[in-house]
Amino acid sequence: MKLSNVLIVDDSEVQCQHAVALCRELLPDVTVDFSFSAGGGLTSLRDQSTPCDIVIVDLEMPEMDGVQLINHIASEGLCGALIIVSAKPPSLIASVAVMAESEGLKVLGSLQKPLDTTKLLSAFKAFKNICSPSEERAAVNYTVTTKDLMRGISKKEFVSFYQPKVRLFDMSVCGAEALARWQHSDYGILSPYYFIDQMEKKNLIDALTFQLLDLSLECKQRWNAAGLPLELSINLSPYSLSNTGFTDWVYDHVSAFNISPEELTFEITENALLGDLAKAIQTLARLRLKGFNIAIDDYGTGFANAEQLSRIPATILKLDRSMIAGVDSKPQLEKVLHSTVKLAIDLGMETVAEGVETEAELNIVKGFGVDIIQGYYFGKPMPADEFERWTVDFGKTSET
Ligand code: C2E
Ligand code: CA
Ligand code: CA
Repeated sequence: MKLSNVLIVDDSEVQCQHAVALCRELLPDVTVDFSFSAGGGLTSLRDQSTPCDIVIVDLEMPEMDGVQLINHIASEGLCGALIIVSAKPPSLIASVAVMAESEGLKVLGSLQKPLDTTKLLSAFKAFKNICSPSEERAAVNYTVTTKDLMRGISKKEFVSFYQPKVRLFDMSVCGAEALARWQHSDYGILSPYYFIDQMEKKNLIDALTFQLLDLSLECKQRWNAAGLPLELSINLSPYSLSNTGFTDWVYDHVSAFNISPEELTFEITENALLGDLAKAIQTLARLRLKGFNIAIDDYGTGFANAEQLSRIPATILKLDRSMIAGVDSKPQLEKVLHSTVKLAIDLGMETVAEGVETEAELNIVKGFGVDIIQGYYFGKPMPADEFERWTVDFGKTSET
Protein backbone atom coordinates (compact mmCIF):
# COMPACT_ATOMS: atom_id res chain seq x y z
CA MET A 1 0.00 0.00 0.00
CA LYS A 2 1.34 3.43 -0.96
CA LEU A 3 1.54 6.02 1.79
CA SER A 4 -0.63 8.93 0.65
CA ASN A 5 -1.83 10.93 3.65
CA VAL A 6 -0.77 11.72 7.20
CA LEU A 7 -2.58 13.61 9.95
CA ILE A 8 -0.72 15.30 12.83
CA VAL A 9 -2.64 16.02 16.04
CA ASP A 10 -0.80 18.16 18.60
CA ASP A 11 -2.14 21.01 20.74
CA SER A 12 1.23 22.79 20.79
CA GLU A 13 1.26 24.95 17.66
CA VAL A 14 5.06 25.12 17.61
CA GLN A 15 5.51 21.35 17.91
CA CYS A 16 2.72 20.70 15.43
CA GLN A 17 4.21 23.03 12.82
CA HIS A 18 7.63 21.45 13.40
CA ALA A 19 6.12 18.00 12.74
CA VAL A 20 4.31 19.27 9.62
CA ALA A 21 7.55 20.75 8.26
CA LEU A 22 9.49 17.51 8.90
CA CYS A 23 6.77 15.38 7.28
CA ARG A 24 6.59 17.61 4.19
CA GLU A 25 10.36 17.47 3.85
CA LEU A 26 10.52 13.67 4.26
CA LEU A 27 7.36 12.88 2.27
CA PRO A 28 7.06 15.46 -0.51
CA ASP A 29 4.37 13.43 -2.36
CA VAL A 30 2.17 12.83 0.67
CA THR A 31 -0.73 15.01 1.85
CA VAL A 32 0.04 16.25 5.36
CA ASP A 33 -2.88 17.62 7.43
CA PHE A 34 -2.87 18.76 11.03
CA SER A 35 -5.08 19.71 13.91
CA PHE A 36 -4.33 21.55 17.18
CA SER A 37 -6.84 19.47 19.18
CA ALA A 38 -7.84 15.83 19.57
CA GLY A 39 -11.49 16.78 18.93
CA GLY A 40 -10.55 18.58 15.70
CA GLY A 41 -8.40 15.63 14.61
CA LEU A 42 -11.24 13.22 15.31
CA THR A 43 -13.68 15.28 13.26
CA SER A 44 -11.37 15.40 10.26
CA LEU A 45 -10.73 11.63 10.51
CA ARG A 46 -14.49 10.99 10.57
CA ASP A 47 -15.09 13.35 7.63
CA GLN A 48 -12.25 12.13 5.43
CA SER A 49 -13.10 10.98 1.92
CA THR A 50 -9.95 8.84 1.59
CA PRO A 51 -8.87 6.96 4.75
CA CYS A 52 -5.86 8.43 6.55
CA ASP A 53 -2.77 6.17 6.45
CA ILE A 54 -0.94 7.38 9.55
CA VAL A 55 -1.96 9.57 12.50
CA ILE A 56 0.88 11.20 14.40
CA VAL A 57 -0.61 11.73 17.83
CA ASP A 58 0.58 13.73 20.83
CA LEU A 59 -0.44 12.28 24.20
CA GLU A 60 -0.92 15.33 26.37
CA MET A 61 -3.75 17.47 25.10
CA PRO A 62 -6.50 19.38 26.96
CA GLU A 63 -10.12 18.13 26.92
CA MET A 64 -9.63 14.91 24.95
CA ASP A 65 -6.11 13.51 25.41
CA GLY A 66 -4.07 11.29 23.07
CA VAL A 67 -5.10 8.04 24.79
CA GLN A 68 -8.79 8.85 24.30
CA LEU A 69 -8.18 9.84 20.69
CA ILE A 70 -6.38 6.53 20.05
CA ASN A 71 -9.37 4.68 21.55
CA HIS A 72 -11.70 6.41 19.12
CA ILE A 73 -9.40 5.72 16.17
CA ALA A 74 -9.33 2.01 17.05
CA SER A 75 -12.99 1.51 17.90
CA GLU A 76 -14.25 3.47 14.87
CA GLY A 77 -11.63 2.04 12.50
CA LEU A 78 -10.55 5.51 11.41
CA CYS A 79 -6.91 4.68 10.65
CA GLY A 80 -4.68 1.61 10.97
CA ALA A 81 -1.28 3.05 11.88
CA LEU A 82 0.00 5.49 14.49
CA ILE A 83 3.13 7.28 15.47
CA ILE A 84 2.94 8.29 19.13
CA VAL A 85 4.89 11.36 20.22
CA SER A 86 5.19 12.92 23.65
CA ALA A 87 7.51 14.72 26.03
CA LYS A 88 6.45 12.22 28.73
CA PRO A 89 8.86 9.46 29.87
CA PRO A 90 9.51 6.67 27.32
CA SER A 91 7.91 4.06 29.62
CA LEU A 92 4.57 5.90 29.50
CA ILE A 93 4.74 6.31 25.71
CA ALA A 94 5.59 2.61 25.39
CA SER A 95 2.63 1.51 27.51
CA VAL A 96 0.24 3.59 25.40
CA ALA A 97 1.78 1.86 22.36
CA VAL A 98 1.01 -1.54 23.92
CA MET A 99 -2.58 -0.41 24.54
CA ALA A 100 -2.94 0.78 20.93
CA GLU A 101 -1.54 -2.47 19.53
CA SER A 102 -3.84 -4.53 21.73
CA GLU A 103 -6.71 -2.58 20.18
CA GLY A 104 -5.54 -3.67 16.73
CA LEU A 105 -3.57 -0.59 15.63
CA LYS A 106 -0.04 -0.73 14.25
CA VAL A 107 2.36 1.53 16.15
CA LEU A 108 5.13 2.54 13.76
CA GLY A 109 7.12 4.43 16.36
CA SER A 110 6.93 5.76 19.93
CA LEU A 111 8.93 8.96 19.77
CA GLN A 112 10.17 11.40 22.36
CA LYS A 113 9.68 15.12 21.63
CA PRO A 114 11.22 17.13 20.07
CA LEU A 115 10.78 15.06 16.91
CA ASP A 116 13.94 14.14 15.09
CA THR A 117 14.22 13.49 11.35
CA THR A 118 15.98 10.11 11.51
CA LYS A 119 13.52 8.53 13.95
CA LEU A 120 10.53 9.91 12.11
CA LEU A 121 11.89 8.58 8.83
CA SER A 122 12.35 5.08 10.22
CA ALA A 123 8.79 5.15 11.57
CA PHE A 124 7.58 5.99 8.04
CA LYS A 125 9.68 3.18 6.61
CA ALA A 126 8.02 0.81 9.10
CA PHE A 127 4.70 1.67 7.42
CA LYS A 128 5.89 0.11 4.19
CA ASN A 129 7.27 -2.94 5.99
CA ILE A 130 4.14 -3.48 8.05
CA CYS A 131 1.84 -3.11 5.08
CA SER A 132 3.51 -5.50 2.68
CA PRO A 133 3.03 -8.86 4.48
CA SER A 134 -0.70 -8.32 5.00
CA GLU A 135 -1.01 -7.34 1.36
CA GLU A 136 0.67 -10.60 0.43
CA ARG A 137 -1.78 -12.46 2.61
CA ALA A 138 -4.77 -10.64 1.26
CA ALA A 139 -3.63 -11.44 -2.27
CA VAL A 140 -5.62 -14.68 -2.40
CA ASN A 141 -8.99 -15.17 -0.80
CA TYR A 142 -8.83 -18.89 -0.22
CA THR A 143 -10.08 -21.01 2.66
CA VAL A 144 -8.35 -24.34 2.55
CA THR A 145 -10.14 -27.65 3.07
CA THR A 146 -8.73 -30.92 4.44
CA LYS A 147 -9.31 -32.55 1.05
CA ASP A 148 -7.19 -29.84 -0.66
CA LEU A 149 -4.41 -30.34 1.87
CA MET A 150 -4.39 -34.09 1.36
CA ARG A 151 -4.37 -33.64 -2.40
CA GLY A 152 -1.48 -31.15 -2.06
CA ILE A 153 0.51 -33.65 -0.01
CA SER A 154 -0.16 -36.58 -2.31
CA LYS A 155 0.74 -34.52 -5.38
CA LYS A 156 3.87 -33.21 -3.63
CA GLU A 157 2.82 -29.59 -4.15
CA PHE A 158 4.55 -28.44 -0.96
CA VAL A 159 8.11 -27.20 -1.29
CA SER A 160 10.61 -25.29 0.80
CA PHE A 161 11.98 -21.84 0.14
CA TYR A 162 15.30 -20.99 1.76
CA GLN A 163 16.07 -17.76 3.58
CA PRO A 164 19.75 -16.97 4.17
CA LYS A 165 21.27 -16.43 7.60
CA VAL A 166 24.30 -14.16 7.68
CA ARG A 167 26.92 -14.35 10.44
CA LEU A 168 27.97 -10.81 11.36
CA PHE A 169 31.41 -11.77 12.61
CA ASP A 170 32.74 -12.47 9.12
CA MET A 171 29.73 -11.49 6.97
CA SER A 172 29.38 -15.02 5.65
CA VAL A 173 26.20 -16.93 4.78
CA CYS A 174 26.24 -19.54 7.53
CA GLY A 175 22.96 -21.29 6.87
CA ALA A 176 19.35 -21.15 5.73
CA GLU A 177 15.90 -21.66 7.16
CA ALA A 178 13.59 -23.88 5.13
CA LEU A 179 10.15 -22.23 4.90
CA ALA A 180 7.18 -24.11 3.53
CA ARG A 181 5.33 -22.93 0.42
CA TRP A 182 2.41 -24.49 -1.41
CA GLN A 183 2.72 -24.52 -5.20
CA HIS A 184 -1.01 -24.61 -5.61
CA SER A 185 -2.35 -25.64 -9.00
CA ASP A 186 -5.03 -22.90 -8.93
CA TYR A 187 -3.62 -20.18 -6.68
CA GLY A 188 0.14 -20.16 -7.33
CA ILE A 189 2.62 -19.95 -4.45
CA LEU A 190 0.84 -19.80 -1.09
CA SER A 191 2.54 -18.83 2.18
CA PRO A 192 2.32 -21.02 5.34
CA TYR A 193 -0.31 -18.62 6.60
CA TYR A 194 -2.81 -20.56 4.44
CA PHE A 195 -2.05 -24.08 5.58
CA ILE A 196 0.09 -24.68 8.69
CA ASP A 197 -2.68 -24.11 11.25
CA GLN A 198 -5.09 -26.32 9.34
CA MET A 199 -2.50 -29.07 8.96
CA GLU A 200 -1.89 -29.00 12.70
CA LYS A 201 -5.62 -29.20 13.43
CA LYS A 202 -6.19 -32.02 10.92
CA ASN A 203 -3.21 -34.08 12.07
CA LEU A 204 -1.39 -33.69 8.75
CA ILE A 205 1.56 -31.69 10.01
CA ASP A 206 3.94 -34.65 10.45
CA ALA A 207 3.27 -35.70 6.84
CA LEU A 208 4.23 -32.19 5.70
CA THR A 209 7.32 -32.06 7.93
CA PHE A 210 8.56 -35.42 6.64
CA GLN A 211 7.94 -34.49 3.01
CA LEU A 212 9.71 -31.13 3.37
CA LEU A 213 12.54 -32.66 5.37
CA ASP A 214 13.31 -34.95 2.43
CA LEU A 215 13.38 -32.03 0.00
CA SER A 216 15.57 -29.98 2.34
CA LEU A 217 17.98 -32.86 2.91
CA GLU A 218 18.39 -33.26 -0.85
CA CYS A 219 19.27 -29.56 -1.00
CA LYS A 220 21.66 -29.90 1.90
CA GLN A 221 23.41 -32.73 0.06
CA ARG A 222 23.86 -30.44 -2.95
CA TRP A 223 25.28 -27.67 -0.73
CA ASN A 224 27.74 -30.11 0.81
CA ALA A 225 28.78 -31.41 -2.61
CA ALA A 226 29.30 -27.83 -3.81
CA GLY A 227 31.46 -27.05 -0.77
CA LEU A 228 28.92 -24.66 0.77
CA PRO A 229 29.18 -25.14 4.54
CA LEU A 230 25.60 -24.19 5.34
CA GLU A 231 23.60 -25.20 8.39
CA LEU A 232 19.98 -26.10 7.59
CA SER A 233 17.11 -25.04 9.87
CA ILE A 234 13.75 -26.79 9.88
CA ASN A 235 10.59 -25.62 11.65
CA LEU A 236 9.02 -28.16 13.95
CA SER A 237 5.39 -27.99 14.90
CA PRO A 238 4.62 -28.31 18.64
CA TYR A 239 2.43 -31.25 17.61
CA SER A 240 5.45 -33.21 16.38
CA LEU A 241 7.09 -32.88 19.78
CA SER A 242 4.43 -35.05 21.36
CA ASN A 243 5.12 -37.80 18.80
CA THR A 244 7.57 -40.01 20.69
CA GLY A 245 8.69 -41.83 17.52
CA PHE A 246 9.74 -38.56 15.89
CA THR A 247 13.36 -38.43 17.08
CA ASP A 248 14.28 -41.90 15.85
CA TRP A 249 12.52 -41.42 12.54
CA VAL A 250 14.39 -38.16 11.92
CA TYR A 251 17.73 -39.53 13.04
CA ASP A 252 17.52 -42.60 10.79
CA HIS A 253 16.40 -40.49 7.90
CA VAL A 254 19.13 -37.87 8.23
CA SER A 255 21.77 -40.62 8.58
CA ALA A 256 20.49 -42.21 5.35
CA PHE A 257 21.25 -38.91 3.58
CA ASN A 258 24.79 -39.01 4.97
CA ILE A 259 24.27 -35.73 6.77
CA SER A 260 25.48 -35.25 10.28
CA PRO A 261 22.94 -34.08 12.91
CA GLU A 262 25.25 -31.18 13.88
CA GLU A 263 24.51 -29.60 10.48
CA LEU A 264 20.79 -29.42 11.22
CA THR A 265 18.77 -27.17 13.52
CA PHE A 266 15.19 -27.70 14.57
CA GLU A 267 13.27 -24.54 15.39
CA ILE A 268 10.49 -24.68 17.96
CA THR A 269 8.43 -21.83 19.38
CA GLU A 270 8.20 -21.06 23.09
CA ASN A 271 4.53 -22.03 22.89
CA ALA A 272 5.56 -25.59 22.02
CA LEU A 273 6.10 -26.05 25.73
CA LEU A 274 2.57 -25.10 26.68
CA GLY A 275 1.17 -28.54 25.81
CA ASP A 276 2.55 -31.80 27.19
CA LEU A 277 5.76 -30.43 28.69
CA ALA A 278 7.24 -33.80 29.65
CA LYS A 279 6.85 -35.24 26.13
CA ALA A 280 8.13 -32.04 24.50
CA ILE A 281 11.25 -31.96 26.68
CA GLN A 282 11.77 -35.68 26.07
CA THR A 283 11.74 -35.20 22.28
CA LEU A 284 13.97 -32.12 22.44
CA ALA A 285 16.44 -33.69 24.85
CA ARG A 286 16.72 -36.79 22.65
CA LEU A 287 17.23 -34.66 19.52
CA ARG A 288 20.02 -32.80 21.34
CA LEU A 289 21.57 -36.08 22.50
CA LYS A 290 21.66 -37.27 18.89
CA GLY A 291 23.57 -34.07 18.03
CA PHE A 292 20.88 -31.89 16.39
CA ASN A 293 20.78 -28.19 17.28
CA ILE A 294 17.62 -26.74 18.81
CA ALA A 295 16.57 -23.12 18.37
CA ILE A 296 13.83 -21.33 20.26
CA ASP A 297 11.87 -19.52 17.57
CA ASP A 298 9.79 -16.32 17.75
CA TYR A 299 11.29 -15.45 21.14
CA GLY A 300 9.52 -12.45 22.58
CA THR A 301 6.02 -13.35 21.37
CA GLY A 302 5.23 -15.94 24.05
CA PHE A 303 5.51 -15.85 27.78
CA ALA A 304 8.54 -17.98 28.58
CA ASN A 305 10.58 -16.38 31.32
CA ALA A 306 14.31 -16.68 31.79
CA GLU A 307 14.02 -19.68 34.11
CA GLN A 308 11.79 -21.62 31.69
CA LEU A 309 14.17 -20.71 28.89
CA SER A 310 17.10 -22.20 30.73
CA ARG A 311 15.23 -25.52 31.07
CA ILE A 312 14.81 -26.06 27.33
CA PRO A 313 17.75 -27.94 25.80
CA ALA A 314 18.24 -25.24 23.15
CA THR A 315 21.46 -23.65 22.01
CA ILE A 316 20.09 -20.90 19.77
CA LEU A 317 17.66 -18.07 20.52
CA LYS A 318 15.80 -16.48 17.62
CA LEU A 319 14.58 -13.01 18.48
CA ASP A 320 11.19 -12.44 16.91
CA ARG A 321 10.70 -9.70 14.34
CA SER A 322 8.35 -7.89 16.74
CA MET A 323 11.43 -7.12 18.88
CA ILE A 324 13.37 -5.87 15.88
CA ALA A 325 10.91 -3.99 13.65
CA GLY A 326 11.33 -0.25 14.18
CA VAL A 327 13.60 -0.77 17.21
CA ASP A 328 15.56 2.33 16.19
CA SER A 329 12.51 4.49 16.88
CA LYS A 330 11.18 2.65 19.97
CA PRO A 331 13.49 3.35 22.93
CA GLN A 332 11.68 1.01 25.34
CA LEU A 333 11.77 -1.84 22.83
CA GLU A 334 15.48 -1.20 22.37
CA LYS A 335 16.01 -1.74 26.12
CA VAL A 336 13.97 -4.97 26.10
CA LEU A 337 15.91 -6.21 23.09
CA HIS A 338 19.23 -5.35 24.71
CA SER A 339 18.42 -7.18 27.93
CA THR A 340 17.12 -10.20 25.99
CA VAL A 341 20.32 -10.43 23.98
CA LYS A 342 22.35 -10.13 27.21
CA LEU A 343 20.28 -12.92 28.77
CA ALA A 344 20.85 -15.20 25.78
CA ILE A 345 24.58 -14.48 25.85
CA ASP A 346 24.67 -15.18 29.63
CA LEU A 347 22.90 -18.50 29.00
CA GLY A 348 25.57 -19.32 26.43
CA MET A 349 23.12 -19.28 23.51
CA GLU A 350 23.81 -18.16 19.98
CA THR A 351 21.49 -15.31 18.94
CA VAL A 352 19.66 -14.83 15.64
CA ALA A 353 17.80 -11.59 14.89
CA GLU A 354 14.80 -12.31 12.67
CA GLY A 355 13.15 -9.86 10.33
CA VAL A 356 15.92 -7.29 10.07
CA GLU A 357 14.89 -5.04 7.21
CA THR A 358 16.80 -1.79 7.59
CA GLU A 359 20.34 -0.64 8.18
CA ALA A 360 19.22 1.18 11.35
CA GLU A 361 17.83 -2.09 12.79
CA LEU A 362 20.97 -3.94 11.71
CA ASN A 363 23.25 -1.44 13.46
CA ILE A 364 21.36 -1.75 16.73
CA VAL A 365 21.40 -5.56 16.84
CA LYS A 366 25.04 -5.56 15.79
CA GLY A 367 25.86 -3.17 18.64
CA PHE A 368 24.17 -5.53 21.12
CA GLY A 369 26.34 -8.44 19.98
CA VAL A 370 23.76 -10.50 18.04
CA ASP A 371 25.54 -13.29 16.13
CA ILE A 372 23.37 -13.95 13.09
CA ILE A 373 20.91 -11.96 10.95
CA GLN A 374 17.98 -13.40 9.06
CA GLY A 375 15.85 -10.81 7.32
CA TYR A 376 14.90 -9.07 4.12
CA TYR A 377 17.86 -6.71 4.63
CA PHE A 378 20.09 -9.51 3.34
CA GLY A 379 17.66 -11.79 1.54
CA LYS A 380 14.06 -13.02 1.33
CA PRO A 381 13.11 -16.72 1.27
CA MET A 382 13.96 -18.06 -2.22
CA PRO A 383 13.44 -21.26 -4.22
CA ALA A 384 16.34 -23.70 -3.80
CA ASP A 385 18.17 -22.96 -7.08
CA GLU A 386 17.88 -19.20 -6.62
CA PHE A 387 19.14 -19.50 -3.03
CA GLU A 388 22.22 -21.42 -4.21
CA ARG A 389 23.07 -18.76 -6.82
CA TRP A 390 22.42 -16.01 -4.29
CA THR A 391 24.79 -17.60 -1.76
CA VAL A 392 27.61 -17.95 -4.27
CA ASP A 393 27.14 -14.31 -5.39
CA PHE A 394 27.01 -13.07 -1.79
CA GLY A 395 30.34 -14.80 -1.09
CA LYS A 396 31.90 -13.08 -4.13
CA THR A 397 30.57 -9.63 -3.15
CA SER A 398 31.71 -9.86 0.45
CA GLU A 399 35.22 -10.89 -0.69
CA THR A 400 35.61 -7.74 -2.78
P1 C2E B 1 9.02 -18.26 11.26
O1 C2E B 1 9.56 -19.60 11.57
O2 C2E B 1 9.15 -17.23 12.31
O3 C2E B 1 9.71 -17.80 9.90
C1 C2E B 1 10.11 -16.51 9.64
C2 C2E B 1 9.04 -15.78 8.86
O4 C2E B 1 9.40 -14.41 8.79
C3 C2E B 1 8.95 -16.25 7.42
O5 C2E B 1 7.59 -16.11 7.02
C4 C2E B 1 9.80 -15.23 6.68
O6 C2E B 1 9.47 -15.10 5.33
C5 C2E B 1 9.47 -13.98 7.46
N1 C2E B 1 10.55 -12.99 7.39
C6 C2E B 1 11.88 -13.21 7.41
N2 C2E B 1 12.56 -12.06 7.34
C7 C2E B 1 11.63 -11.07 7.29
C8 C2E B 1 11.71 -9.64 7.20
O7 C2E B 1 12.79 -9.04 7.16
N3 C2E B 1 10.54 -8.98 7.18
C9 C2E B 1 9.32 -9.60 7.21
N4 C2E B 1 8.22 -8.86 7.17
N5 C2E B 1 9.21 -10.95 7.30
C10 C2E B 1 10.35 -11.66 7.33
P2 C2E B 1 6.84 -17.29 6.28
O8 C2E B 1 7.75 -17.99 5.33
O9 C2E B 1 5.55 -16.71 5.76
O10 C2E B 1 6.54 -18.32 7.44
C11 C2E B 1 5.62 -18.01 8.44
C12 C2E B 1 5.64 -19.04 9.53
O11 C2E B 1 5.12 -20.30 9.10
C13 C2E B 1 7.05 -19.38 10.01
O12 C2E B 1 7.47 -18.36 10.89
C14 C2E B 1 6.80 -20.71 10.71
O13 C2E B 1 6.27 -20.51 12.01
C15 C2E B 1 5.73 -21.32 9.85
N6 C2E B 1 6.37 -22.31 8.96
C16 C2E B 1 6.99 -22.11 7.78
N7 C2E B 1 7.42 -23.28 7.25
C17 C2E B 1 7.08 -24.23 8.14
C18 C2E B 1 7.24 -25.67 8.17
O14 C2E B 1 7.82 -26.31 7.27
N8 C2E B 1 6.75 -26.32 9.26
C19 C2E B 1 6.11 -25.68 10.28
N9 C2E B 1 5.66 -26.39 11.32
N10 C2E B 1 5.94 -24.33 10.29
C20 C2E B 1 6.41 -23.63 9.22
CA1 CA C 1 11.35 -20.47 12.21
CA1 CA D 1 10.52 -16.86 13.92
